[in-house]
Amino acid sequence: MSLKSDRYYEKHKEKILDKLRIKHQELKQEFITEYGGRCQCCGETNSSFLTLDHVAGNGEGRRHRDGCGNSTRIKKELKKQGWPKDGRYQILCYNCNCARAHNQNICPHQLNLQNN
Ligand SMILES: [Zn+2]
Ligand SMILES: [Zn+2]
Repeated sequence: MSLKSDRYYEKHKEKILDKLRIKHQELKQEFITEYGGRCQCCGETNSSFLTLDHVAGNGEGRRHRDGCGNSTRIKKELKKQGWPKDGRYQILCYNCNCARAHNQNICPHQLNLQNN
């Protein structure tokens, strides 16, 4: 019967992971709504593309290597603080966020704007 209980455990595990996934999605959606609902660089509004960006200021966060990484911990912290709008964090889409991380914190979109 151990096989059966293993299966039950697997099912249970899936449910727990699903719950976590939903919580993660809700947290992300809340963050997006609170911080303007769109990429602050290119205006992308599809939440599948949107991510939290640590605005580089005061040299803080410069050493963060995960420009495109997991930011759930930060969102949880922001939620606890009531989503402070102190300019430390903004919404960027994955494109802008990752491109910026590889271009000295300037998205190529912004370079195009400067050239025009
Ligand atoms: Zn963008
Ligand atoms: Zn951009």
